[in-house]
Amino acid sequence: MILKTKFMTRNDCYTANRKITPKGIMIHATATPGVMAGDWFSRWNKSYKAGETNRQVCVHAFVDDKEAWQYLPWNHRGWHAGGSANDTHIGIEMCEPAGHSYTGGTMVGYDAQKQAKYFEAVYNNTVELAVKLCKEFGLTEKNIIDHSEGHKLGIASNHSDVAHWFPRHGKSMDTFREAVRKALARDKATDVVEPKPVTPAPPVDDNWVTYTVRKGDTLSKIAMKYDGISWMDIAEFNGLSNPNLIKVGQKLKIPVKVIQPSPYKVVRGDTLGSIAKKYGYTVDELAKHNGIKNPNLIRVGQIIRFPEKVVRQ
Ligand SMILES: [Zn+2]
Repeated sequence: MILKTKFMTRNDCYTANRKITPKGIMIHATATPGVMAGDWFSRWNKSYKAGETNRQVCVHAFVDDKEAWQYLPWNHRGWHAGGSANDTHIGIEMCEPAGHSYTGGTMVGYDAQKQAKYFEAVYNNTVELAVKLCKEFGLTEKNIIDHSEGHKLGIASNHSDVAHWFPRHGKSMDTFREAVRKALARDKATDVVEPKPVTPAPPVDDNWVTYTVRKGDTLSKIAMKYDGISWMDIAEFNGLSNPNLIKVGQKLKIPVKVIQPSPYKVVRGDTLGSIAKKYGYTVDELAKHNGIKNPNLIRVGQIIRFPEKVVRQ
């Protein structure tokens, strides 16, 4: 998911400039079919005081199936809950796809089958953003509620989001929290990994790999399997007086070492290209090894693993 940031500096909520220490995250849905995350800037970057809009409202971020837009600093007091949750919760609005309308708080004409793909994407993107915020503010999945749960807790106004929508796709805030919990646990397992240039060189005695001669092998055929190695290198390294005389089963020392850098955690500003260059791989090698379909799309915190590479001593 792509996270874009552009603060709504004309919104009265922004200029009020009250700060909070985020203690939780409140998930909303816009109830405005077809208006995507980036569209809300022009709608809400307006001042009620100056008579430019008829609502006093602002939220920290909107998420759709493709991206998230952050419109308030995370520690800014938002106007999204209609209750005391504004003092404690980061507000995230999930954008709804086009094609339905509302009667009161109920969706009318919503085609769950047709919207399944959109829902999955916006749901996953919102999980991803929630995971990021949990890490940033030391929160867990237990600190995440939706607007309707906030009302039951007495800290938000009487709205039904997102409970009016999630069940259409077999989801609930419990499945949402479980997805966040899993992602946090998974990332915790890999977060300890720190980038290192390369694994330390093996002890001197291990400065070769062993190759067992197979039927049909010649020294030059074997040499071709290793980058930068010639049959003469192998002959010399093994003290072979007659390079034409090798036999099946014979063990040859090949003067190469296997390197495999430790996994790398993507930080802001990285591209797959910059990581590939730094560690001596190609973008294709890294994309293939990590199952990355679009090499232009990597995200902060993602773990990049490196394939083993055999290099000349
Ligand atoms: Zn809401």
